Amino acid sequence: LRMIGASLGPLARLTKAARDFADGDLETRVKIESRNEFGTLGHAFNNMAGKMGRQIDMLETMSEIDHLILTGGSIDEVCGAVAQHLIRLSRSNAVAVVTGLDDQVSQAMMYTVCRDRVVNEMIDASALAAASGASLRVDSMTVSDSWLGQHAALFADAGDSHVAIVPVLLQRQLMGIILVGLQGDGALPAEQLQQCEDIAERFAVALASFKREEALFRQANYDDLTGLPNRQLLKDRLKDLVERPGGAGTSGALLYLDLDRFKEVNDVYGHSVGDMVLVQAAERIVSETRDDDIVARLGGDEFVVVMPKVSRSEVVKSTAVRLLSRLTDVFSVSGMDHFVGASIGIVLFPDDGESVETLLKNADAAMYRAKEAGRSRHEFFNHELNAEGRRKIELERELRTALARGDLELYYQPQFYTETGALSGAEALLRWHHDLLGDVSPAEFIPLAEESDLIVEIGEWVADRCARDLRALFDEGLHPGAIAINVSARQLRDERFGHSLFNVLSAHGIQPSNIRIEVTETAVAQNRDTAIEFLDDLRKKGVRIALDDFGTGYSSLSYLQNMPYDIIKIDKSFVDLIDTGETSANICRTVIRMAHELGKTSIAEGVESQSQLNFLRDSGCDVVQGYVHARPMSFDAFVAFVRKIDLHTHRRKALELV
Ligand code: C2E
Ligand code: CA
Ligand code: CA
Repeated sequence: LRMIGASLGPLARLTKAARDFADGDLETRVKIESRNEFGTLGHAFNNMAGKMGRQIDMLETMSEIDHLILTGGSIDEVCGAVAQHLIRLSRSNAVAVVTGLDDQVSQAMMYTVCRDRVVNEMIDASALAAASGASLRVDSMTVSDSWLGQHAALFADAGDSHVAIVPVLLQRQLMGIILVGLQGDGALPAEQLQQCEDIAERFAVALASFKREEALFRQANYDDLTGLPNRQLLKDRLKDLVERPGGAGTSGALLYLDLDRFKEVNDVYGHSVGDMVLVQAAERIVSETRDDDIVARLGGDEFVVVMPKVSRSEVVKSTAVRLLSRLTDVFSVSGMDHFVGASIGIVLFPDDGESVETLLKNADAAMYRAKEAGRSRHEFFNHELNAEGRRKIELERELRTALARGDLELYYQPQFYTETGALSGAEALLRWHHDLLGDVSPAEFIPLAEESDLIVEIGEWVADRCARDLRALFDEGLHPGAIAINVSARQLRDERFGHSLFNVLSAHGIQPSNIRIEVTETAVAQNRDTAIEFLDDLRKKGVRIALDDFGTGYSSLSYLQNMPYDIIKIDKSFVDLIDTGETSANICRTVIRMAHELGKTSIAEGVESQSQLNFLRDSGCDVVQGYVHARPMSFDAFVAFVRKIDLHTHRRKALELV
């Protein structure tokens, strides 16, 4: 019985251990008491269980790492899995995982697990990297070795006598280092050494994948030029701040910055100089803000600063003033000085908007007002002025695409000789039809187009359209007289305008004498030298010039004498005076007389009543334009209008002959 008992006992224990192991208890071992065959079998079982346990643990760690890579786990989680596995594998007290070596060894991350304590810190890994980078293989040394430097204490304190240094390599490039604390003589059995290398290899793949993802993230969220967060990342971060549930109570400010004369620098000196200015501007903005402020570049010359926690607007104000002063300082790019400056619009949240979109829109509106008020200043957002500002922004945005969408149209308002009532010509007037905004008056959108320089493109379109329309009229044998087109101050500064005008005229076979240009005195005064030269040139080529809105500008008589023009357009405000009383009407008569004294033709515009018409005729005004005769009309209507007059004149001529 004793003999049977001596065999059955160990057999039962071995059976149970084998079952437990199969059920997943990898730590299970048999206690060995006898030195017989069962003892040998027990040893063999324990060895096998140990080896298999380590291998299964290894496989599990590998699959955990893969899972983390695939499911977007964090780099810390992967470091944790690696460290825990190595602690189990080598029964060490401390393991450290160093990452981020590929960018800058003087700044690496070290993730340490030491007796259940986890620390994640920034370290200088230069010495470690230099040493393990040179050997490129697993090395074991005593904790007192100089390689370890200040990190030795960690392992010594944990009770490890040696440290294995495992380089993490991807294509022979050092991506990280794993430090495993060892006890005893510090020898690592061949099997564990192999496992360390295997895990390091998988870890390298994980790091590469994180790096790739980070690069993609940077690409999508950061501005290439300045390295600042882009619009997307700004929106994400801002959303966290303002739209966080229960985020009420956090108040902050958003500053919307737009450089003032950046476009000029870019146009005149080229994009590479413009880029340098932007980089410098970004550096200045960052240097004037605190660490927890967000500085982003929205694109172009627009930046945003978010101050996440400010309770007093004075703080925001002083930041804005500092930013403005820094950006007004000269920008030096390769020996050249540029003066740029900026305008800033400010919103406070949550007061000025509860969503990211509203905040950005309102800050933009405030920035516009700062620009309008004379640039190089800041404006706080103000609810009352909002609607107007918003419409301007919306109109300007829509206007950019109006040409491409074919929403612009040229109308024609006929002009007549006062003496005979015959058609003398017409003024071309822009019309903008917008699907949602309806018909927008040129009095509203032309100033916007001038501000944004869109007027240059629009002006070219007007000239081209006008030349085509005239060609079509001529081809039908109709002669409407000269057509006047309105030209803005901005266009007078642009040499391109003159060229493109004559190009379209000759392209459609139109004589310069069929075209007139209307400019205001103010527009000429603003660009005195270039404008006078330009208008002189147009006149020499046969284009006649009209001074539009005469009497509303600030020109002096001596100035008028030197201006190159042929026609005075008496402003509607003077025509309006005609029916109001004898002395007021005299102003109109005086202007007409003066025009004639100067040898110019007079055109009265905005003539609405028969009595105004009579007065103007009696005063010797040459031409009238106004609702009394005809309103501005589409080209088709104008063609019909001209054809009717033409028939009428022919019939009268025929009658006279008879
Ligand atoms: P403007 O050059 O002084 O044009 C005359 C304006 O008076 C036109 O307004 C015309 O429709 C209006 N008008 C004509 N007769 C009468 C009348 O009897 N009574 C009244 N109440 N108004 C009359 P519109 O078309 O709205 O144009 C406004 C301004 O927009 C123009 O003033 C001009 O400065 C600018 N504009 C229009 N088209 C162009 C263009 O193609 N280029 C540029 N640069 N400016 C344009
Ligand atoms: Ca005009
Ligand atoms: Ca006018």
